[in-house]
Amino acid sequence: MLESVDDTEYIKVGIKLKHTGGRAHFMCPACDSIHTISVAYDEADPKRPIWGWNNSDDSPTFTPSINRILGPYPDGSSKICHSFVRDGHIQFLGDCTHAFAGKTMEIPDFPFLLWEKHT
Ligand SMILES: [Zn+2]
Repeated sequence: MLESVDDTEYIKVGIKLKHTGGRAHFMCPACDSIHTISVAYDEADPKRPIWGWNNSDDSPTFTPSINRILGPYPDGSSKICHSFVRDGHIQFLGDCTHAFAGKTMEIPDFPFLLWEKHT
């Protein structure tokens, strides 16, 4: 997707990722929410883990795996979303507690309009 900046300049806008301030954000179809990871050192939060990233917005690869524990919820339960992101696809690992465990799928387009509403 190309976005016009002025008559002569264009910038590439990634469709699967949004990245701001050293963080990358992508839509997780299993959790129906946005997962955020750090991809650059942050002086304000030096202990935050940093993922390797291939610098691609359209076909991102992150290393190592991304393990999200959601909850605990009011009933005391929690959910696990554990995945590898490679070449623009999410490979959900077998220890995920959601229905996408064991499946691999393309990362959905980033919901920019939704994001703007919430920030
Ligand atoms: Zn997830």
